[in-house]
Amino acid sequence: MPPKLDLPTLQNWSCHNCGGCCRQHEIEITAEERQRIEQQGWQADQLAGHAGPVVESLPARGGVARWRLAHRSDGACVFLDERGLCRIHARFGEPAKPLACRVYPFAFHPAGDRVVLGFRFSCPSVVSNRGATPAAQRGDLTTLYDLVVPNNAGTIAAPAFRPGLALSWNDVRELGGELDRLLTRPAVPLPLRLLWCLGTLDLLNARSDQELAGARWRPAVSQAASAVIAELPEMPPTLLSPTGMARRMFRLLVAQYARRDTFAEVSAGWRYRWRLFRSIVRFIWGAGRIPPLQAGFESVPFAVVERPFGPWPAQADELLTRYLRVKIESLHYCGRACYDLPVRQGFANLALAVAATCYLARWLAAGAGRREWNAEDFERALAAVDHHHAYSPALALPDFQQRQRWLLNQREVTRLVAWYAR
Ligand code: SF4
Repeated sequence: MPPKLDLPTLQNWSCHNCGGCCRQHEIEITAEERQRIEQQGWQADQLAGHAGPVVESLPARGGVARWRLAHRSDGACVFLDERGLCRIHARFGEPAKPLACRVYPFAFHPAGDRVVLGFRFSCPSVVSNRGATPAAQRGDLTTLYDLVVPNNAGTIAAPAFRPGLALSWNDVRELGGELDRLLTRPAVPLPLRLLWCLGTLDLLNARSDQELAGARWRPAVSQAASAVIAELPEMPPTLLSPTGMARRMFRLLVAQYARRDTFAEVSAGWRYRWRLFRSIVRFIWGAGRIPPLQAGFESVPFAVVERPFGPWPAQADELLTRYLRVKIESLHYCGRACYDLPVRQGFANLALAVAATCYLARWLAAGAGRREWNAEDFERALAAVDHHHAYSPALALPDFQQRQRWLLNQREVTRLVAWYAR
């Protein structure tokens, strides 16, 4: 029997035609989609004067030919019209579009006897939670599920807790349920709730394989969480700041999240790669001014981003709490949905994504000449970070993963969250 589709209850979405995804993403298409689009008979006068091909070749991968939708010189997809609508959709209907465009911003993840639906927060409508509930879109979502979920989805193994310590899908759900309970504690600021989650996973990790094998995860997590809350009832007024090495490693991660490899930039070839290389060296060095890696992020001194930016706006707490809960509920932080990471490392990487969001929000506020951050800084920062998180192939590279493991094992993830959230 195919796994059933589980729909989240925390997140709404409808497309508001901002055209952002049509400018940000390179849309790779299949041979069948290429043929279909080429046969649609597009003329330059229907494409705002674009006279070139509507489909372009990509370098072959593993001996397999690849194609993408063509983009205009300003970086937008050739099919994006002036109202922010897709011309293929308008002329031939939604099913005529490439599958990648139809699925965005949804994500389907295996979870044993079910498949869970997640969302990409790179879409501003997801960030602002605007639109219809997933339940109201069940018909369309079931159509997409049939198109994208492979037949063997139900046989995919659950992620481990840590390397070598296997979990069942039920264990993963119980663990996620307890983390969710911690994240929904009322009247506690999110940075502290996040530290509780990290502390709980650390406490569990201190137990041996023998102790944890066959454990009932719900009571085990709940017990660990109570111990952590008793030890850290409130945000410590003086926080141990991250070491210089940890900040350097973290800035490399931030540089990856702050990148926006637009079509126009990548097409600039070695010039773009040289500029990127120089920017990354400056992020490692961490002195002088932050190089702007995408539009909207002004160059500001690295030192400015390190100072306190005051309490979070209430909307930022709601947004990042929802973000974490949606990622946990949809298992978009570990296993097959996130670089095959074990649960503990996957959650730590998610916490680092929150710390990176805080870093980018500081950067945006400082770039606008403010000493305090606002809700919009967090929204824009999170959209930039989640464009990459669990998707960018660079984040799956061994040196990135090794750095994130080091930060976790040195207890630096907690310090980085506390430091950049203040
Ligand atoms: S980014 Fe989101 S709201 Fe904007 S066009 Fe794409 S799906 Fe629609």
